[in-house]
Amino acid sequence: MILGRRLVVAARSGGHFGGLLRAESQSLAAGVTLNVDFHLHTTESDGLLEPSALLRTIASVGMDYFSITDHDTLSVHVRHTEQLKKFGRRAVTGIEVSTNTGDREVHILGYGITVGSNELREILSDRAAARRKRAERVVDKLAHQGVRISMTDVARHCTGEMIGRPHIARALVDVGAARDVGDAFARYIGSGCSAYVPVTTVTPAKAIRAINDSGGVSVLAHPTRNGAEELLGEFVKDGLHGIEAFSTSHTPHDSERFRALARTHKLVMTAGTDFHAPTDANPYPGVDVADEDIAGFLELLKLKQPKTVATDL
Ligand SMILES: [Zn+2]
Repeated sequence: MILGRRLVVAARSGGHFGGLLRAESQSLAAGVTLNVDFHLHTTESDGLLEPSALLRTIASVGMDYFSITDHDTLSVHVRHTEQLKKFGRRAVTGIEVSTNTGDREVHILGYGITVGSNELREILSDRAAARRKRAERVVDKLAHQGVRISMTDVARHCTGEMIGRPHIARALVDVGAARDVGDAFARYIGSGCSAYVPVTTVTPAKAIRAINDSGGVSVLAHPTRNGAEELLGEFVKDGLHGIEAFSTSHTPHDSERFRALARTHKLVMTAGTDFHAPTDANPYPGVDVADEDIAGFLELLKLKQPKTVATDL
């Protein structure tokens, strides 16, 4: 299992942490390097992999810790408890809540939540309905621009209860209106584009409070997106615990900036790829991080002692 992980690290040579040699020298110089991913999606929201397929990938990579954080739903942690249990403490309960403040969409991650807690249930109960309504409005807007897809076309790509923009994007690719998912976002449905519709009216403050009150750890997701990092001070006042400081999509400069912000605001740091599907650039989920960089987060989750036992599914 360790060998498998090293091969993956080697295959990522030139990536965020510079591959095997850098990872090994880091672990010699600064303690243990962990391979983790606290930001993963499955078909329970808008990911491409079924939960069991994603868990098989995670097992083959030999990740130290991970969390499946589907959008606005904890269903993977309800429906796949038996499979998740096999990973023991390496599997952390998680969710990503979509929120809005002004005209910005901000995503708040929640970890170690008590599944079924009333505080979160209130927020989540109408998420599925809100997402369906949003998808209908996007399809309407597209029709006004002469781009015709139906809700049935969208639903074809959707196996969980949550309809997300990637499902709409794939329908746009099917009818030839976009080259790929990225193109569909850039041309039609991304924030600020002609068919963009925000999904929710939950504020970041409300989501942070609900996550904290559910016994969870609240973390700002992909802080580079939509200028979310500019609002960090506000979120800290609302009770935010952490920031997603490390990601394969961050430049080393980004990560250093988030490290400084974490220090200033006394936040814990997390690492995640926002994995939705294997891509050429990132065929596997996972980020290599120094143990000490995420120690504060693991402490909050009471997971300081990493498990080294390999898990086979
Ligand atoms: Zn995400």
